[in-house]
Amino acid sequence: MHYGIDVGGTKTEIAIYDRDWACLERWREPTPSDDAEAFLALLAAMVREADRRCAGRGTLGLGFPGVLDERGHLITANLPGLRPLVLETALAAVLDRAFVIENDSRCFMVSEVGPGGAAEGARHAFGAILGTGAGGGAIVDGRLLSGAGRFAGEWGHLPLSAATARRYDLPCITCGCGLAGCLETYIAGPGLARLHRHFGGASASAEAWHAAWQAGEEAAQRARACHLDLLGGALANVVKLLSPQVIVIGGGLSTVEGLLEALPAAISMHLFPGVETPEVVGSRLGASSGVRGAAMLGAAASGASGTNGDKKGRP
Ligand SMILES: [Zn+2]
Repeated sequence: MHYGIDVGGTKTEIAIYDRDWACLERWREPTPSDDAEAFLALLAAMVREADRRCAGRGTLGLGFPGVLDERGHLITANLPGLRPLVLETALAAVLDRAFVIENDSRCFMVSEVGPGGAAEGARHAFGAILGTGAGGGAIVDGRLLSGAGRFAGEWGHLPLSAATARRYDLPCITCGCGLAGCLETYIAGPGLARLHRHFGGASASAEAWHAAWQAGEEAAQRARACHLDLLGGALANVVKLLSPQVIVIGGGLSTVEGLLEALPAAISMHLFPGVETPEVVGSRLGASSGVRGAAMLGAAASGASGTNGDKKGRP
């Protein structure tokens, strides 16, 4: 058996998979996001309960929002109570087995190149999650790219290009990461609402923008065109750096009508001649992708059945 745990700001989910990645059981508990001790006790109890339900002892992988800093502390806005923990050390003290931890966007991409995923078997792929933030993960030569600091794939914190900012006369926004001008502040859900306001709309959320766009409001149309251009430029940066054969889009914005279809042309506008635009597809596993990817990483680290598209190559 393989267990995946997906830690969110409000809910923590565990799922049990068999060797063929069929999900046998899954359940959720509220995350004690401001109480480290309660959080560790919850994870230990969930793993014990998984052992009991499948009368065995599964491999384990955990997905977290955020990244680890150089001291091993989790950097995230969603789980303030976990800040004092040296995360891996604290988990090792309460979990009675080897485990893998990884950023949840990276887990998403591991799952999407796995069996039944939107980029199944891809050797070179990039996953972009567009929700309240813009997370991502890269598969390079069939393996998840982590990097020395384990934050490879954070495309949302690449800067907006000066040419694009000038084209739309966009303000330079300070990002939650502390930098200014990060793409995430324009292309994720809150960024889309911000673009709408920039063009004269009154959106407080991506949902409000969507309603105005569907109603044909001019400011919402301009925000949509600008957003598509910015997103195309952002993903073109990824193409220039990593040359993926396929880009998988996940998160709430991935379901906006026509976005996936329009993206290849928007990306190619920001590429130079001779660079091929990758295929753009939507997530196939949706909200289950993160927890399954965590389980796959745990299984791979233990030497159990595979992950990362190693089993089946795309041409
Ligand atoms: Zn940033």
